[in-house]
Amino acid sequence: AAERLANKTILITGASSGIGEATAKELAAAANGQIKLILTARRADKLAQVTQDLKSAYPNIKIHTQQHDVSKTETIVPFVESIPEEFKDIDFLINNAGKALGREPVGEILTEDILGMFETNVLGLIALTQAVLPILKKKNSGSIVNIGSIAGRDPYPGGGIYCPSKAAVKSFSHVLRKELISTKIRVLEVDPGAVETEFSLVRFKQDKDAAKAVYKGAEPLVAEDIAEVIVFGLTRRENTVIAETLVFPTNQA
Ligand code: NDP
Repeated sequence: AAERLANKTILITGASSGIGEATAKELAAAANGQIKLILTARRADKLAQVTQDLKSAYPNIKIHTQQHDVSKTETIVPFVESIPEEFKDIDFLINNAGKALGREPVGEILTEDILGMFETNVLGLIALTQAVLPILKKKNSGSIVNIGSIAGRDPYPGGGIYCPSKAAVKSFSHVLRKELISTKIRVLEVDPGAVETEFSLVRFKQDKDAAKAVYKGAEPLVAEDIAEVIVFGLTRRENTVIAETLVFPTNQA
């Protein structure tokens, strides 16, 4: 695995917590620090902490952090253009930033939450993919990993916008993979089941009890479980794509 990651440049969105942070750390471990990471999210202090953790484990690792809000699609091209030369030659794009907001029935979902989910989970992901694709096409290699969700496959009441947003991620991933079939660029989509991260805290606006109740009755995954799957996908032979993966806790229905 290490040689398939060696000296790769990897852009991860939502790298300030949860699955994105764990993926940065698993990739660094798998490559023994021989990678270049571009870590983005809105919380600069969290990104700084992740960077510090990584640098103390792998003093030679190269990291560029960039505070960026992926939902502001008009900022995406300038953001990609602003990446320092040393990090510009992206090999792997991991579109991980995402969120659920609220769990109200459709008629009661706040417009701002509808926009927040679609702009982050779908429009930002598409815009960033569009901005990075020319870099991959130019060298005819590389991978795009999109984080979907079981919610995109198995909609539930109260998932009125989150579920369709993740269904869109899946559909977009398949379109992209098929469009790129004559190239060596891979598109992987990973659908986690329940993972205990900050995700539910964000969803329930920092209500810890409501967040915890989501995992009642089933032991959730940890972010590293998903990160390991992403590393596995990225370290297959170039001619192999794990196009779609559903990763559940063993006891999730
Ligand atoms: P976290 O809340 O821990 O992480 C979400 C990450 O996305 C954070 O780093 C956050 O950073 C970032 N983010 C959110 N909004 C934006 C934005 N507008 N611009 C840039 N970054 C943003 O949750 P997870 O790690 O669990 O979530 C990661 C992905 O996994 C999401 O796409 C989620 O939908 C998906 N998923 C999670 C599941 C779960 O049970 N946890 C299940 C299925 C899928 P910041 O706030 O600093 O911007």
